[in-house]
Amino acid sequence: MTKSINDVITLNNGVKIPQHGFGVYLIKGEEEGYNSINKALEVGYRSFDTAQLYENEKLVGKILSESNVKRSELFITTKVANFKQGYDSTLRAVEQSLKDLQLDEIDLLLIHWPSKKHFFETWKALEKLYNEKLVRAIGVSNYEIHHLEKLASKSTIKPVINQVECHPYLTQEPLKDYLQNQNIAFEAWSPLGRGALLNNNVISEIAKKYNKSIAQIVIRWHLQKGNIVIPKSITPSRIEENANIYDFNLIEGDIKIIDSLNNNQRTGDAPDEIYLQI
Ligand code: NDP
Repeated sequence: MTKSINDVITLNNGVKIPQHGFGVYLIKGEEEGYNSINKALEVGYRSFDTAQLYENEKLVGKILSESNVKRSELFITTKVANFKQGYDSTLRAVEQSLKDLQLDEIDLLLIHWPSKKHFFETWKALEKLYNEKLVRAIGVSNYEIHHLEKLASKSTIKPVINQVECHPYLTQEPLKDYLQNQNIAFEAWSPLGRGALLNNNVISEIAKKYNKSIAQIVIRWHLQKGNIVIPKSITPSRIEENANIYDFNLIEGDIKIIDSLNNNQRTGDAPDEIYLQI
């Protein structure tokens, strides 16, 4: 049972990732960046999830390197952008990410979306970067079971993680079962459904019982289900609220009620649509 924001999950290569990290998608500009990331550090976040596509690696790198938190305490994830996929192009893009993030080594590097065209080439580049110790762990994002099976047919290193959309309206149980059997960790993006479920009546009733907000109940639900979770906010009071979830436990019955809200509703793109396009 997770007890603090410092709790970690051990990945299949032995690297430890905080279970509760901070997403930085759409965080742009110095003022927004400093306010949100420094607040996140202040309330205890040590894991930050960015991507080449978010165009804020430089900003994130600057703010984190200027903070008084030691590099060894931080865990930084980035992702190869769709238009940078391919062997040479991925190697070049990651070299740039290392510079922008001001890092000697990225903690976790993901392929942002599966690409039919560059499927094995991009992964081969990630394996090279891992073998050269420029990244501590490699994984994927937005992979369905059939993408993972295809990857396993030719890769030499297994992904440590699959980061996919997941929240109470999209619980992803079949994919989670598959990943658990494969010893690949499960990470939830848009864990709050990008705000879409923050007025849900069922969760609201549960929230009243625990004297917590809907967002707090949803993040706690993720953690108790074993998901790695990366909620995003630019609002200092919400950043604090989202971290303040370690003083209560959801009972099993309430977890089941939230599970039952699943209707396979996405807020983002479906992986197979992107897979065929890039
Ligand atoms: P989230 O589910 O984290 O929701 C973010 C939204 O919820 C924002 O509008 C935020 O508002 C609002 N919010 C946050 N906390 C609260 C709160 N306590 N009360 C009310 N509203 C709140 O969505 P994201 O799409 O940002 O996903 C999180 C992270 O996942 C991203 O930042 C990114 O790192 C990753 N991601 C990965 C993807 C991938 O393809 N691999 C795709 C999408 C996201 P505000 O900021 O205004 O406070």
